[in-house]
Amino acid sequence: MASVTIRNVWKYYGETPAVKNLNITCPDGSFVSILGPSGCGKSSTMRMIAGLEHISAGDIHFDSQRINDLAPKDRDVAMVFENYALYPHKSVYENIANPLRLRKASDATIKDRVNGAAKLLEIAHLLDRRPHELSGGQKQRVAIGRAIVREPKLFLFDEPIAHLDAKLRAHMRGEIKHLQRTLGTTMIYVTHDQLEALSMADYIAVMHDGELQQWGTPSEIFNHPVNAWVAGFVGEPAMNFLTCDIVARGEEVALRHSNFDIPLLAGQARQLNGSAKGGTARMGVRPDAMAISMEKPAEPSITGNIFVNELLGGDMLVDVSLADCRVRVKTAPEFSGKPGETCYLTVNRSKWHVFDAKDGHAYF
Ligand code: ADP
Repeated sequence: MASVTIRNVWKYYGETPAVKNLNITCPDGSFVSILGPSGCGKSSTMRMIAGLEHISAGDIHFDSQRINDLAPKDRDVAMVFENYALYPHKSVYENIANPLRLRKASDATIKDRVNGAAKLLEIAHLLDRRPHELSGGQKQRVAIGRAIVREPKLFLFDEPIAHLDAKLRAHMRGEIKHLQRTLGTTMIYVTHDQLEALSMADYIAVMHDGELQQWGTPSEIFNHPVNAWVAGFVGEPAMNFLTCDIVARGEEVALRHSNFDIPLLAGQARQLNGSAKGGTARMGVRPDAMAISMEKPAEPSITGNIFVNELLGGDMLVDVSLADCRVRVKTAPEFSGKPGETCYLTVNRSKWHVFDAKDGHAYF
């Protein structure tokens, strides 16, 4: 086990930076997810940690050891990729045993560790099979087994379940999290899937365009995004954004839009800087932080027009047209409003966000 510290790390391919001044510290034994869309620099970061890519600038430490110049084989890191890279002609047992055979471990050690890993991964009954006799999920378990038997300091998982079907992915999320907890080994897990990161990780590093946007627990990232980009990337269905004017009326500060005029809570008004007042901002609100009704409520609300209803089993998503955009609200499946009818949205103001109109940073 080891902590991993990434300090001022840059990765250039030619003139183009793929990772820009990255700083993160993964505590010993933690499950850290590097989350971001394709091309944001996740794999480059992972490959620098593994020693598969040169670090253009900056340092990486495992505990107090600087590993920049350490050969990959000396880093004691086990990687699992989306493509399992199993040997097709070898049995499951031999595939898992392979790293130990390369290290010339004794037969007794190999047997012990392979059987232990197979039991943990519930593939003990598959040890005699060849990879072509396995399902996608089973192959992925074999690839994970091969990483476990090495008893490394650090696991690096790069989109390991991205290609599995949705049901199996949901199952494997729980399995991998449980596995990491059981083994207690530090894990860095790369994914573009915000749900994977939110559901599995202790800490998430959100990356965009080579830059770290936010580091935090899943709850911090979801509930307190530092900017509109993180807010829009994390959460499904996505956060709604509305461009509003910020108007100050004596003590009160309100968000004004063609479809509403709603005051901020007192504490929130104090979080806006002076220059924001009187300007425009982007208000962000998640679909489950609003309530929809067909009667005009007493409290300030957003007036809109129902565009379409989508019944999603236990929830209903309602798309509501406003003057310049459409917003989505999550409600109960019994909701009876029909497309074309006027409706009213009440915002849970302790859960809304205001972002700077220019650079997108969050005031709250
Ligand atoms: P991600 O894993 O988030 O999809 P990558 O780290 O693979 O992102 O890539 C980040 C950026 O670096 C992308 O713009 C990608 O095209 C570029 N890149 C990655 N690998 C190479 C390479 N070997 N040569 C040149 N550019 C690369």
